[in-house]
Amino acid sequence: MVNIKSQNQKQYDVIVVGGGPSGLHTAGILSESGLNVALFDEGPEIGKDVVCSGVVSKEAFSRYDLPKESLVGKLKEAKLFSPSGICIPYSHPEEAAAVVDRHIFDGKLAEVATNKGAEIQLNTKVTSLVANDKFIEARVKTQEGENKVRAELVVVATGISFNLQTALGLGRPKKIIKGIQVEIRTQKIESLRVYFGSRFSIGFFGWAIPLFDGRTRIGLMTNGNAVEGLKNILSEVNHHSDPCMEIENAKRRGIAFGSISKSYSERIIAVGEAAGQIKTTTGGGIYYGLISAEIASEVIKKAFKKRRFDANTLSEYEKIWEKSLGREIRFGQYFHKFYSKLDDDSIDALFNAAKDDGLLSFIAERGKFDWHKEAVIKILRSPNLRRVLWNGLIRQITSW
Ligand SMILES: Cc1cc2nc3c(=O)[nH]c(=O)nc-3n(C[C@H](O)[C@H](O)[C@H](O)COP(=O)(O)OP(=O)(O)OC[C@H]3O[C@@H](n4cnc5c(N)ncnc54)[C@H](O)[C@@H]3O)c2cc1C
Repeated sequence: MVNIKSQNQKQYDVIVVGGGPSGLHTAGILSESGLNVALFDEGPEIGKDVVCSGVVSKEAFSRYDLPKESLVGKLKEAKLFSPSGICIPYSHPEEAAAVVDRHIFDGKLAEVATNKGAEIQLNTKVTSLVANDKFIEARVKTQEGENKVRAELVVVATGISFNLQTALGLGRPKKIIKGIQVEIRTQKIESLRVYFGSRFSIGFFGWAIPLFDGRTRIGLMTNGNAVEGLKNILSEVNHHSDPCMEIENAKRRGIAFGSISKSYSERIIAVGEAAGQIKTTTGGGIYYGLISAEIASEVIKKAFKKRRFDANTLSEYEKIWEKSLGREIRFGQYFHKFYSKLDDDSIDALFNAAKDDGLLSFIAERGKFDWHKEAVIKILRSPNLRRVLWNGLIRQITSW
């Protein structure tokens, strides 16, 4: 699908490090504008073995004309389960999200970027970046050995590998959440299931996502023991199978929780999960990565027009993405702080309160799949829900 080339001491306009959705989208936009772009990924194949549920909103699909060939499921209805098994069925008026196969999804984004002129080099790991006033030099490791490659600017889109950002003084997210997932054949599940409570996840939730072909993606994100949580969800979903067998096939990956302290510096911009641009409520990073790739690309195009790649010029990137994503990311963090202090009884109470409080009809009518700030505000304003959350807060204060 994608050419593998090896270059020595070549100068590019832009080097993109990382061939996930954020890096690929950036490479595509910049190549289309006429810039000479190389994308390096350390993996042997784009999108292979990515650990991800692949849930992407309808809004993202239509905004970015994303590859429909990658669709493996659709989400319109969900069942939310409390720790004691209280079930809240939820139905969105229309289909809210798609489920994609990341191997196909990322592969197609790579094809688009290549067709626009980006040069994608696989098995190529960037080990360090050094900027001066004339260029930025990337030290790269390939199967043939080590090279130095120069460019005017580098986009760091390395997902949850934060070595480059740390070395450059951009920092890393304060917290990395544990993620785990397995794809199995189960008894038929008609809609998305979401599991809350300490048996499944500490601080977050678990999921079972049905796919068109009868398989189910079962996973969770947690501050606790990911394997134990997965075993418990597997026994809820698939009473007839042996969870230990499935656990062996489960794949783990961390999820960045919160943005890095600075997303730019001299001749450098960080995008996507590499900058901590993910939904802190759900851990979703694909759409925010695409948005930040677009913002970064516009700032980079302007920088090339002015031929200025200093930190001050690139700081515009952070101002713009902060405006569109920053508050969402922080609201999710605040909410998580409250939620993670709730014990199972309080989560049950939250479920009962949500049933009585019109929260679900509010979400069905006005809730947005990618933007959760409004729903969080609604929760914090609802008297019943607020009472439950206050109890959690008091527990938090008294446990300091
Ligand atoms: C269990 C789980 C479920 C998830 N479910 C969803 C979901 O349903 N929806 C959603 O939107 N998000 C989900 N996510 C998060 C999502 O997968 C990521 O946020 C998303 O992949 C980030 O995209 P990215 O392009 O920023 O980084 P990545 O997709 O991680 O891509 C980074 C790339 O950089 C490469 N790389 C790293 N370091 C180097 C280096 N030094 N040199 C060269 N290459 C390098 C890697 O090989 C990789 O290909 C989930 C995550 C987990 C763990």
